[in-house]
Amino acid sequence: MNKKSIRDIDIENKTVFVREDLNVPLDNEGNITDETRIILSLPTIDYLIKNSAKIILASHLGRPKGKFVEKLKMDPVAIALGKHLNKEIKKMDYVISDKVKNEVKDLKSGDILLLENLRFDQREKSNDDNFSRELAELADIYVNDAFGTSHRKHASMVGICKYIPSVMGLLLEKELRTLSSLLKKPKHPFVAILGGSKISDKIGVVRNLLNVVDTVIAGGGMCYTFLKSIGFEIGNSLLEEEMLEYCKQVLDEFKDKGKKFMLPEDVVVAKEFKHDSILKTVNIEEIPEDWLGLDIGSGTIDKYKEEILKAKTILWNGPMGVFEWESFEKGTKEIAYAVIESKAKTVVGGGDTIAAVKKYRVADKISYITTGGGASLKFLEGVKLPAVEALNNK
Ligand code: AMP
Repeated sequence: MNKKSIRDIDIENKTVFVREDLNVPLDNEGNITDETRIILSLPTIDYLIKNSAKIILASHLGRPKGKFVEKLKMDPVAIALGKHLNKEIKKMDYVISDKVKNEVKDLKSGDILLLENLRFDQREKSNDDNFSRELAELADIYVNDAFGTSHRKHASMVGICKYIPSVMGLLLEKELRTLSSLLKKPKHPFVAILGGSKISDKIGVVRNLLNVVDTVIAGGGMCYTFLKSIGFEIGNSLLEEEMLEYCKQVLDEFKDKGKKFMLPEDVVVAKEFKHDSILKTVNIEEIPEDWLGLDIGSGTIDKYKEEILKAKTILWNGPMGVFEWESFEKGTKEIAYAVIESKAKTVVGGGDTIAAVKKYRVADKISYITTGGGASLKFLEGVKLPAVEALNNK
């Protein structure tokens, strides 16, 4: 990797601004329902403490749309961080203010200060130059550890890098290294399992993976546009009409390169998009006119499993069906079990897929779970992430 990391620079007694992705899910009472992002931020913070840096942490939380929103204050995050680090976190009530500047001046080595939600200031998302400069003026060094936001051109992600030395944090470095290794030197057979609702979100990835994978296994709502593109009738299943031509092209490209693109042979169809709808399993030629496919069928599960068990590298992004509903979860559940049964290096990404591996209690058996849904898809598409590009080269 040609970007500098915190391990390449001297941080002793320096004030370090760390852009984190502490955008944790909250329930209606404002309690954090999943602390994964907080836990993943800890190695970089520990490293900074051990190396006697003065630490400023900053993140966005939810979608406050440039305004103060009481429910989206960073207080629960500060409490959770303090608990994990066993340390006092100085939580600020503002992103930038005279009080914040004074508190930063008073920081001692190892102290941690957490700024208020960056997106309370509308200048964050517009990558406002003055805002970037004001944030940079708080610190000597900038660290990006927010992989999940690195596809965004925001002030605390991109603009700030113009003003102070800017390097990768340990989580960002690990994410980039793991995902690059998939694109550069994967062990074969390499199987990509792709599902979820929208093909338009994933088509770029499919295209780019054509160069590295041996097999794509397709499921979820997105596979129906592929099926339709080669002449199957899909009833009321999800369809992205404008992607039909592109899907057909992709299938032809896989064939031309001698690679497999597997589509379901049977599916579970429902009369209505409801958890308790009437349902049945049908062959792919037999989807009734006004029914819709909500899961892969058991014949397909068996075929997909066979392929998964042969793999040495697996990338999984997107559920095989509407796994949130018990009647349509079998495909996703069985694929999750097959993935961990395989001897492959397994990389899982995307919010719903992470939720699925947690639901079926297999998350701890996955080799690597990437935190960045959108960012990991962009990276796998081969798109350069603006917030990574903005960091200093080695
Ligand atoms: P995505 O965010 O694109 O990864 O899509 C994830 C969502 O796709 C999940 O909430 C699933 O319930 C949904 N999904 C999976 N399969 C289907 C399907 N066959 N029809 C409609 N939605 C689906």
